[in-house]
Amino acid sequence: MKDAIALVTGSSQGIGRGICLALAQRGTTVVACARNAEALEEVAQEGRKRDLSGTINPQVLDVCDREAIDLVVENAIEKHGRLDILVNNAGITRDGLIMNMEDDQFEVVLTTNLRAAFWLIRAASRSMVRQRYGRIINIGSISGVAGNAGQANYAASKAGLIGLTKSVAKEFGKRKITCNLIAPGFISTEMTHVLPEKLKDSAKQMIPLGRFGEVDEVADVVVFFAGEAASYITGQVLVVDGGLHM
Ligand code: NAP
Repeated sequence: MKDAIALVTGSSQGIGRGICLALAQRGTTVVACARNAEALEEVAQEGRKRDLSGTINPQVLDVCDREAIDLVVENAIEKHGRLDILVNNAGITRDGLIMNMEDDQFEVVLTTNLRAAFWLIRAASRSMVRQRYGRIINIGSISGVAGNAGQANYAASKAGLIGLTKSVAKEFGKRKITCNLIAPGFISTEMTHVLPEKLKDSAKQMIPLGRFGEVDEVADVVVFFAGEAASYITGQVLVVDGGLHM
């Protein structure tokens, strides 16, 4: 992973922030993408403060903007000469019961969580195929594996990511490009901080390890999939949920 070039979406906070720092710690040059420029700069600063061997380069990107995706990926490849690792981590929830769910609520989640991942993979694959090497890691969710009441939009987007992951693995395997998906359960980030305390407590009761996961416990799995140790693993879904779903 030393000297590799990575592009990570959803890097301004939470799991994406942790992934950028974990990759940079291993000497990777990271193009850290999200919409919030100030928060991205903080992530880059944190990397410098920790004196990491890799660098974190902030890049403003709204993943719902297909043309912007093409431009950002093209610029990253032009600047760094290659793209080795793509982490599709940007994701949102817009929860609601199906009977009350508006079309917009469904669409924005599908676009952010699934369409954007396809657009990014398509853009990145041009360089990965040329260089005959690539590591694509999609961040799904346990909701995409097991389904979840109140999350039809989110679960559909994350289940779609599983199909996308397996198809990419089959289509690009001969070019030494692997594609795997991490399906986190409850991880302590802004996404779960906003949940009602009662729901968080009852979730913890159901998790065999008895707690929410930490950002680094997902970021370390990304590092595993991005590294040499995972060179013969592709098309897989790895659940990181403290045993909640088994
Ligand atoms: P988070 O704290 O809410 O962060 C989400 C990230 O996505 C932010 O950096 C946000 O950046 C970015 N993002 C959202 N919309 C975007 C857009 N249109 N364009 C670019 N970036 C966008 O969430 P998290 O908990 O770290 O979640 C990260 C991933 O893990 C998501 O895919 C989520 O579904 C998945 N996941 C999380 C959990 C959990 O318990 N936390 C569980 C299962 C799966 P900006 O707002 O700056 O753009």
